[in-house]
Amino acid sequence: MIRVEVLLSRIFENARQIAAQTGVALWPVIKADAYGLGTREIARALANVADGFCVFALNEAIAADIWNQTGKPSLALGPAEPRRLQEYLIHHVRPSVIDVPTATALREAHPALCLDTGMQRFTCSPSEAPAVIEAGNIAEVFTHATRMEHVNALQQWAAAQGRKLMLHAAATAMLGEPRAWLDAVRPGLGLYTGAVRITAPLIETHTSQGPVGYTGFTTVRHGVIPVGYTDGLRRGQCRINRQPRRILEVGMQTAFVEISEHDQMGDLVTLLDDHLTPAEIAKSWGSSPQEVLLSLTRTAQKTYLK
Ligand SMILES: *Cc1c(COP(=O)(O)O)cnc(C)c1O
Repeated sequence: MIRVEVLLSRIFENARQIAAQTGVALWPVIKADAYGLGTREIARALANVADGFCVFALNEAIAADIWNQTGKPSLALGPAEPRRLQEYLIHHVRPSVIDVPTATALREAHPALCLDTGMQRFTCSPSEAPAVIEAGNIAEVFTHATRMEHVNALQQWAAAQGRKLMLHAAATAMLGEPRAWLDAVRPGLGLYTGAVRITAPLIETHTSQGPVGYTGFTTVRHGVIPVGYTDGLRRGQCRINRQPRRILEVGMQTAFVEISEHDQMGDLVTLLDDHLTPAEIAKSWGSSPQEVLLSLTRTAQKTYLK
């Protein structure tokens, strides 16, 4: 009974603005089922603004049929699978490679190289990179950048190579930094700003008497929503009838929320929207906005609004 509404026109508009602002190629990141929102639906919504899509694994691009749905290629950011050349070719997915044998095996699929500038995971060291470039006939090099020093390291390394390379580094966190845009940007989280609303109805309302629930919390009035751990919910903020309220206790499939005397059965409890953003919720969870979005959308039935 958790309700996740996804405003596709807002996601398109976010992408269009990023493309217009940066003026470079746009490769939206739709890994992890587009952060729980549905790879195929998000890819289709962005088909006319994206130059291509980033996924983590080949299988994600195949499952969502990105090439046939959008006519745009994909780049798989995670570890390459050297025995699946034909599938990379058929589905128009380019692998990311980090070693000579894999680059050689997948040369025909136009691999990109992921250069280590600090991430130290699924990356190729700058010293080994020239041999991998040679083996895979590579024309595109990217890195994971969270700070300008990562971008600078990529550019300095590229400048010392004897060939022209397409470079990219920026995810959402670096979009405010023009020097990080290079030849393409790879936003994930930033595509979904203002585009997701998650709600659930109050299915019980009570005047509290003494300790309540498993944990024995005390409050004046409490309500119950049919959303729990199974939906990825944790304790923290919510809003009811525009007022900020607390999620007081979470169980497997239900949660207790604080309510006022004006809140009625059937009223909607907002768990995430424009005013209660993944970034704010992440603070009370001690987590990242990406985890919040994925956690609350992953298992839910989604409603797509144009
Ligand atoms: C996930 C990912 C991104 C997108 O990150 P956001 O912070 O969600 O924008 C970009 N690049 C790489 C390599 C990634 O793994």
